[in-house]
Amino acid sequence: MVLGRRFFAVVAPFATVQDDIGLAVLRSRWRGETGPPIYAEESAAAWLAPVLGEPANIVAEKDLLATLAEQPGALAILPFDHLSPVYKALTIDGVNILSNRLDPADWPLVAAVTLQGPDVAILGDLPDLQEAITPATNRDPDRLTTLIMTGVTAMARGTAEKMEQKGYTYPAAVISDTLRAADITHVSNEVPFIQGCQVNNTYMNLILCSDYPYWQALEAIGVDIVGLSGNHVNDFGREGARESLQFYRDKGVPVYGSGLNEEEACRPLRLEHNGNSFAFIAALAWWPEEAWATATEPGACYFYRNYEKIFDMVRQLSREVDVVSVELQYVETYDPWPTRDQVEEFRALHEAGADIVTGVQSHVPQAMEPYGEDEPGGSGIIVYGLGNLFFDQMQSWETRTGLIARHTIYDGRLLSTEILTTVLEDFAQPRWATPEERAGILETIFAAAPEKGRLPPPPTPEPTPTPISGGEGTAMQAAPPVPASETPIADAARPGPSWPAPEPQPQDHFWLVRPTAPDANRLASSNYGFASTAGGRYRVHHGVDIMNPTGTPLFAPDDATVVYAGPDQEPHVFGPYPDFYGNVVLFRLNRAWRDEPVYVLYGHMNTVTVQSGQPVRLGDPVGTVGMTGIAIGPHVHVEVRLGGTDYTDAYNSELWLEPLPGHGVIAGQAVTSDGRAWINGRVFVYRLDGERRLYRIIPLYADDAGIHPDPGWAENFLLADVPEGDYELVLRLDDRQFKQKLHVSAGRTNYARFVVD
Ligand SMILES: [Zn+2]
Repeated sequence: MVLGRRFFAVVAPFATVQDDIGLAVLRSRWRGETGPPIYAEESAAAWLAPVLGEPANIVAEKDLLATLAEQPGALAILPFDHLSPVYKALTIDGVNILSNRLDPADWPLVAAVTLQGPDVAILGDLPDLQEAITPATNRDPDRLTTLIMTGVTAMARGTAEKMEQKGYTYPAAVISDTLRAADITHVSNEVPFIQGCQVNNTYMNLILCSDYPYWQALEAIGVDIVGLSGNHVNDFGREGARESLQFYRDKGVPVYGSGLNEEEACRPLRLEHNGNSFAFIAALAWWPEEAWATATEPGACYFYRNYEKIFDMVRQLSREVDVVSVELQYVETYDPWPTRDQVEEFRALHEAGADIVTGVQSHVPQAMEPYGEDEPGGSGIIVYGLGNLFFDQMQSWETRTGLIARHTIYDGRLLSTEILTTVLEDFAQPRWATPEERAGILETIFAAAPEKGRLPPPPTPEPTPTPISGGEGTAMQAAPPVPASETPIADAARPGPSWPAPEPQPQDHFWLVRPTAPDANRLASSNYGFASTAGGRYRVHHGVDIMNPTGTPLFAPDDATVVYAGPDQEPHVFGPYPDFYGNVVLFRLNRAWRDEPVYVLYGHMNTVTVQSGQPVRLGDPVGTVGMTGIAIGPHVHVEVRLGGTDYTDAYNSELWLEPLPGHGVIAGQAVTSDGRAWINGRVFVYRLDGERRLYRIIPLYADDAGIHPDPGWAENFLLADVPEGDYELVLRLDDRQFKQKLHVSAGRTNYARFVVD
């Protein structure tokens, strides 16, 4: 009879590219016949001698990782239930000890204690012997759970177009078997399910939804739970969010991270499998504010408003359940390395008791950080960003590549995390990376890992102040270069066109009232501001977009004459090509500015209730919000044109729209000393009230002849509707950064100038 059975795993340090080893090679390396060495943990040495022969190298378990770290290529063998996230478990001739479908007969590293002879039954009852071989097995499939966590899903735009052409399960075709095989398959779905959602595969479309049949793709991968912390969850308004939440309820698939109100959105999802208990929490740590749940309205759990509550919850749950998983939709960058704030906050969650911390925002694979039992926060793993699962981003190799984290939980403990690697094809369908591609992906994320116990270089190191120039009385400081690994943008910063200096005494001209009523949304979308390309993905924006449901009334922004009202068609084309702005109203204000006419354009309107030539007074209704022209989600595009009415006469309308009460505008310029505008830089805006926190990231204006700086301010970056208070601005140009403090006063433009060569 078999009294006890022990399974052993072959391991390397976590950040290892090698996936597999052949049994013959393993055996000779174990015996020391060839190198590099395979170390036997002490109990493995005793149990496996009959299977593999006498080991050449034996190491105590506590010294194992350090020993491996010293010798590239060295491996170790230890009991299956002693695995830890700091190790990578290798397959042996393609057989995976972590698989929940493993046939034990296929795994070569098993040892058993058996009794033979006539008195077996009596001997088997001996308490001493039983105790020595307890438990009977160290790999009981009934105590094992495989949890798969995936990256960005947004079945819209290009992905949706392919699904309409090739079938709703098309995205899942290649990877579905592997995902379905997990005991718990997680999806982070960024976009709401909206019945009858129309495919709009235009570059400008940042308002995303999925039609009901797209569920089939998630069904095909065996989705069990859905995290809803994405910042597009309310793209179709609060009503759309309610519809989508009901959709999941009808499907019987639990969700978390969003809810009908803030309390529900932040509530953990608890479940149990094979005796392992789990709690899943998801939160949105980014904009837009419209995506955040409120006390009474649906949306995502906003991380910073529920900061203490979430940390308390993690601490509490870590005592109640085996595995606490927290996922955050964080600031999107397109880099493999996490930002300093990301590292700090993800680590804080781990230390509070989260076994698994996952970033679900990133559209490119990011670093991972495994933790051992004796490290701060104990055993666990931080996955900074998984990249895309089902999303159309074919624009770069990095966005095409994705990670799937396959976590193995055994007997209440996270044993191991496998990294599966995918490559997106045809805008919709991830396939498995080839061995060469996989090696490249793994090397990239391993190289991007932050140093353990230390934070990446701070965005604002304390330099010796070297004032170069000042604007508005704030001294500017040049900071020393930081390593290239902190570079936040892909395209190199460069001086662009020559740029005017600001006038000595620029005057504000907040002449325009918002186009919508106070009870509607009056804030412009943050991810596609004036002169922005939304990260290089879209046409340079000549205005700002204010999202509201279709039919929301629009009002005249000032006393004006309607120069044109109607479709954006020949001979009245206002965009780069006909029907770009759909139904438009073009106003000419009754007051001129510096003897120049001031025009205001509303675009994408549903209805237009004024006529060309008609005079209007401030606040007169002129029509309603729609999505005509190149726009899927309902919004009004607001654009100011000075001097002329051409597409290329655009100025930043947020220097004309009156700030909301208690809010001001940040404007400034980043130029060279010979007066050229910097291109491809970004300004990181940190709030200094209380804890220093990243507030927003503003791209510098794109290089585009059709957009112009204000003649007074000569700005090439701008952020409107900033709450009054103290801020720090950090200009980042590739690996260089420059900072200055700025107090934002309400109701005015607050100016910062960077002169940098
Ligand atoms: Zn627009």
